[in-house]
Amino acid sequence: MRFRELGVIPPILKALELQGYQQPTPIQEQAIPPVLAGRDVLGCAQTGTGKTAAFAVPILQNLRAHPLPQGTPRCIRALVLTPTRELALQIQESFTAYGQFLPLRCCVIFGGVSQKPQEQELRRGVDVLVATPGRLNDLIGQGLIRLDHLEIFVLDEADRMLDMGFIHDVRRVIRQLPDKKQTLLFSATMPKEIAEIARTVLVNPAKIAV
Ligand code: AMP
Repeated sequence: MRFRELGVIPPILKALELQGYQQPTPIQEQAIPPVLAGRDVLGCAQTGTGKTAAFAVPILQNLRAHPLPQGTPRCIRALVLTPTRELALQIQESFTAYGQFLPLRCCVIFGGVSQKPQEQELRRGVDVLVATPGRLNDLIGQGLIRLDHLEIFVLDEADRMLDMGFIHDVRRVIRQLPDKKQTLLFSATMPKEIAEIARTVLVNPAKIAV
């Protein structure tokens, strides 16, 4: 199977080629078509399986396929919540690499560092935001981030969010999101708190596992 056969568009194919990706990994093969079709996804997959491209590639493609009307100010259209700074940085780098030939901007925010440079980045306009939950709630609380135009939400490493004590913050973020959106939830295991979130947030999800 090739990325092209999964329906990936040429500007992204070119970027994937530059990354040296010759063919999709199993999670990418399973996830890309339903995400492109606009479906919710419940994915059981660990880091190291190619999970990031499995959601980043079709998200970039969907945003590209449905540009905002000309003159509309840039707003956050996709949000990826992930538990750690390291993961957040990696995910942001991946979006930037796969989307290098698309007119979309991806930013990252996380706690433990000064907020000011992140504020400046946000002011430049963001299509895709990658965030850890605590810092995201802080910035929402200060009125610096609005998520009312969100179209796609990714909850990454949901079980680790729980292990790290972030589940309350995650629920708080979810309460800020519009009802109508596409949601992708990835978790290596399915503890009952995560199953509960999946049950309330996902609508008829495609279930994938690797
Ligand atoms: P991830 O699970 O998203 O953290 O990805 C693990 C590693 O696999 C990263 O270094 C990716 O750059 C790499 N990777 C992802 N997809 C592919 C692919 N289709 N072919 C080769 N390497 C890949």
